[in-house]
Amino acid sequence: MIIVLKPKTSKEEIDELTSRLKERGLKPVEFDGVERTVIHVLGTATDETANRFRSFNCVENIVRILKPFKLASKEHHTQKTVVKIGNVSIGNGDVVMIAGPCSVESEEQIMEAAEMLKKLNIRIMRASAFKPRTSPYDFQGLGITGLKLLKKVREKTGILVETEIMDVRDVPIAAEYVDVLRVGARNMQNFDLLKELGKINKPVILKRGMSATINECIMAAEYILYHGNTDVILCERGIRTFETAYRNTLDVGAIAILKNLTHLPVIADPSHAAGNRELIAPLSKAAVAAGADGLLIEAHPHPEKALSDAAQSLYPEQLEKLMNELKPLCEAVGKKLA
Ligand code: PEP
Ligand code: MN
Repeated sequence: MIIVLKPKTSKEEIDELTSRLKERGLKPVEFDGVERTVIHVLGTATDETANRFRSFNCVENIVRILKPFKLASKEHHTQKTVVKIGNVSIGNGDVVMIAGPCSVESEEQIMEAAEMLKKLNIRIMRASAFKPRTSPYDFQGLGITGLKLLKKVREKTGILVETEIMDVRDVPIAAEYVDVLRVGARNMQNFDLLKELGKINKPVILKRGMSATINECIMAAEYILYHGNTDVILCERGIRTFETAYRNTLDVGAIAILKNLTHLPVIADPSHAAGNRELIAPLSKAAVAAGADGLLIEAHPHPEKALSDAAQSLYPEQLEKLMNELKPLCEAVGKKLA
């Protein structure tokens, strides 16, 4: 980092600052200009260190040179990460479809959903057993019974299963039953959960929080990577803006910039961005055009009976139509729909 000092900073203040830097194992190199002094600091400074020095009275500005996300950044890891979910690869240049109902509701519903996916050769099912609902009066999910039903889906149909994890205490059991764990938007900065997910040997889909910056999203991924799990997939799912015509605003630019800044696969969830099934196809296409490695889409065998997110769940024939429309688009951007 570079520390720009205020004009007329005294020698005592500079000495004090440089000795504090050295105490932290950093190497300050001083450059005296006509008006002011600039200190180049060699070594790794964390955000916390930068903020600490920003608080010194003699400091005018601090410029960070390296990204604070060392493990997620492309700066240090130039090869793209390909995450393997069973025999499906995400981040290898294909567009992977992950689809299914918002929630696991019953054995009959989830098996019918699996049949819907099977017909379309979709290899990963999404469905939540634990539900983060705004209202405590709404359907809260089947919990462990739901996890068992997802396992049954895999055993009976070979479809891989993905579900949300909300509570750090459920990590071991969820990791045992499903193939991918998803951190929902509301838990993106649940740091204890992120740390625990860093210790398991299962891929994690990390959704961007609805009010999280790109930097905060990558730093959340950094937690999982730092604790040892390298199989992290980032997911843009729409952010809160002033717009009320749809549920959230799909930040298409986030898909492109996350791919520029990190080596991690990036997928998009147009369903929770839109909140309305009519917008899923156009937003899916925009996400693919922006470079998404996959899509996470809500589809239900009978959306009118869905216990959560009915309005944004695609009908089976809409999912089929979307798959057919996405194929030539993927080819146009040099990819395959997998
Ligand atoms: C979900 O995918 O089921 C979900 C609750 O999404 P989000 O965390 O993005 O709101
Ligand atoms: Mn949902």
